[in-house]
Amino acid sequence: MIFKSKNTDLNFVDGVGFLTFSSLSQLGFVNHAFSTRIGGVSENEFKSMNLNFSRGDDKAKVDENYRIFCKACGFDYESLVSSAQDHNINVRFVTKADRGIGIYREHDRKSVDALVTNEPGVTLVTHYADCTPIFLADKTKKVIALVHAGWRGTVEKICEITVDAMTEKYGCNPTDIIAVVGPAIGECCYEVDTPVYERFASLTELKPAYFTKSIGHGKYMVDLKETNRRMLMESGLLSINITVSDVCTKCNSGLLYSHRASAGKRGGLVAMMCMTQ
Ligand SMILES: [Zn+2]
Repeated sequence: MIFKSKNTDLNFVDGVGFLTFSSLSQLGFVNHAFSTRIGGVSENEFKSMNLNFSRGDDKAKVDENYRIFCKACGFDYESLVSSAQDHNINVRFVTKADRGIGIYREHDRKSVDALVTNEPGVTLVTHYADCTPIFLADKTKKVIALVHAGWRGTVEKICEITVDAMTEKYGCNPTDIIAVVGPAIGECCYEVDTPVYERFASLTELKPAYFTKSIGHGKYMVDLKETNRRMLMESGLLSINITVSDVCTKCNSGLLYSHRASAGKRGGLVAMMCMTQ
């Protein structure tokens, strides 16, 4: 397996592989990681660090994977709070009272695709296998968020909705927010048909020519990461504060679970982030 990236770091601790981004590491008040397939105990199509409870893997193995992953990446297992993703646009504010939800406590809400907190000691957990992870951290107000943006969430503007939620609830200024648009299926691999293309083409304020391309016969290539980058700028973030990972999940399906590369027979990746102070 060869991993090449100009802006995404592959780290190994105790045999667990995970990705990090220097713009978030440098902040000094957050711990963050994006998981890989490496270092877990799951087998077959889930091999090996499957962190998704709902794809048919043995629950005990997924539990063990969470414990292994947290230890390697420096997260407190007790502090995890999971999303409940359904490709909708609901943002949830979480606190210490929510610790364990979706991990070692039952889900209490059906639709949560973005998580926000302003409390240290709460680790946000969101789930992926080609969709776009977006990490947000306000360095002044000390507020963090994780967003899951598949094609639906992207065109329905979940990243903009989350930035607005941070602004309204905590008084964040978008120019203080550091963002990472993480590993997702890239423009190299994300082919869509006309109805999906038309949704992206309708985002005229973002200039769709920069993130859509016709390849003929009613097929198009779409750049989910660039769409979200442009939407974050439309929300007031500064270009200099946004990192877009150059890693494509489908091109790296030995390292990362890819829904398209596996035709749906796959485990799940997570993004995790918490404030340490
Ligand atoms: Zn690709």
